[in-house]
Amino acid sequence: MTQLSPPIFECRDVTVRYGHVLALSNVGAVFERGMIHAVVGQNGAGKTTFARVLAGLVRPASGEIKIDGRPLAGGNVRDARRSGVELVHQSFALPPSFTVAEAMQFGAKGGRFFTKKKLEKRWQLHLDALDVKVSTRQRIRDLPVETQQGVEIARALVSDAKLLILDEPTAVLSPEGAEKLFERVRRLKERGVTVILILHKIREVLAIADTVTVLRGGKLVDGPLASNGIDANRLAELIIGPAAARNLNPEAKAALTGTTLLPHTERQADITAAPVLKMRNVSTRPDPEGPALDGITLDIRPGEIIGVAGIEGNGQRTLVRAISALANIVNGEISIDSTNVTDTPLAARRAIGLRVIPFERNVEGLSMTSSLWENWSARSLLQTPLLSTISPSAIRKQCDSALKQWDVRYSDVRQRAGSLSGGNAQKVILSREMDEDACLILAAQPTRGLDIGATSFVWDSMRNARARGCGLLFISSDLDEIFDISDRIIVMLSGRIVAEFRPPYDLAAVGAAMTGVLR
Ligand code: ATP
Repeated sequence: MTQLSPPIFECRDVTVRYGHVLALSNVGAVFERGMIHAVVGQNGAGKTTFARVLAGLVRPASGEIKIDGRPLAGGNVRDARRSGVELVHQSFALPPSFTVAEAMQFGAKGGRFFTKKKLEKRWQLHLDALDVKVSTRQRIRDLPVETQQGVEIARALVSDAKLLILDEPTAVLSPEGAEKLFERVRRLKERGVTVILILHKIREVLAIADTVTVLRGGKLVDGPLASNGIDANRLAELIIGPAAARNLNPEAKAALTGTTLLPHTERQADITAAPVLKMRNVSTRPDPEGPALDGITLDIRPGEIIGVAGIEGNGQRTLVRAISALANIVNGEISIDSTNVTDTPLAARRAIGLRVIPFERNVEGLSMTSSLWENWSARSLLQTPLLSTISPSAIRKQCDSALKQWDVRYSDVRQRAGSLSGGNAQKVILSREMDEDACLILAAQPTRGLDIGATSFVWDSMRNARARGCGLLFISSDLDEIFDISDRIIVMLSGRIVAEFRPPYDLAAVGAAMTGVLR
């Protein structure tokens, strides 16, 4: 009689507490080997905690975990690695100044006495075998985000991982990037690797996963369920709960289930009004965050949302940095609300009404070691005249009420920002930056990593800001949401604006402009 092999992963009654927060509550599940398993749930549902428990980064308060039939010592990364578990985190951990070979070698076994050339060859073979198209001599910081992720995955697979966990891998990718990642994941499955993917988008789950497991409020709702036996509406209901599903507006539902979005309602901004942003022939030096801007001329009128489409790395980040006084301008002029701000610092621009939802929320948007209210106070500090006094207790109150309005899951405004889940941290920035005094909001990937409730709240907030007469620059790698919300779309390529579109948008034409093909 042949012996059946045990499941690759099983857990029983796993509970994790962070202080008063019950991040996982008696979770039990069994995952079969050689499959692609999706884990889904709203912001703060416990997905990352689940992944961290498996990878030995968090010790559960109670419960039992087995990898490949072998009990896992809770909270022990070495033991998890020995059992073949590897985790690729939400935000990448490779040192930007390292070459690819150095980053691959970092923490790997053997090769200490190799020459540089031999190391480069060693890792080139490994990367080639996994079809990661990169030279081991390139620096991490010069690589597009998809390639960085490919290197991270290759690094996780150095030690023959049996169970690879990718925490929100598509959040940083364009739709094409996500498709390439899925190809890579399918090839890993063919090689016998079991993959757990933490995902937000239902259409991605249904496109890639063999099974889906749903968490809500730290509890296992259902799963693993065969994903070919479940439809998008049912899965949406499992994620947000039956009551919330009944109250979902049609737009949120369409976005959630991946069905067609509502047609764009054409509206016209008042073109006679003075622009809230006026850029004239602005050029910058090459920026650490991307290519130099080359002669950007752009007007945003009050009550107008300008979508920025483009393949990542074509100057979108430099554009945001130039308007927020972080890039080095060598030519041209920038005005906000008719005030020339070309040479003024960010604080002065904020005082006029500029708000920024930055690309890198953990670095530019929040101080992870500071409390929620301190992070939130940045707004009052930057916007209050120097001689006025600011009361910490008043700020704490304001912060508390804004965070509640945004449905941020937190226990106390005094807790560290680093203790929030990724999506909740993003909501703290949004609650701070989308205020009524804003006249110009730069929104870089504002919905990245957010669950559907929060995503539709962001869209509504952007539309409300527009209705108040605010101008918005909206950068997203998701063309669907750009098409749906923007009154006008500009396309960036190599630091320049190469095309402009008005609704109804033509996907093929925008796509062609993004790749530099003129139609
Ligand atoms: P997201 O989609 O927003 O990334 P998630 O499902 O991955 O959410 P987790 O990061 O697992 O959620 O968080 C689950 C809960 O535990 C949240 O309420 C979060 O605020 C809390 N939490 C997570 N890490 C910590 C920590 N280090 N200290 C305190 N609370 C934490």
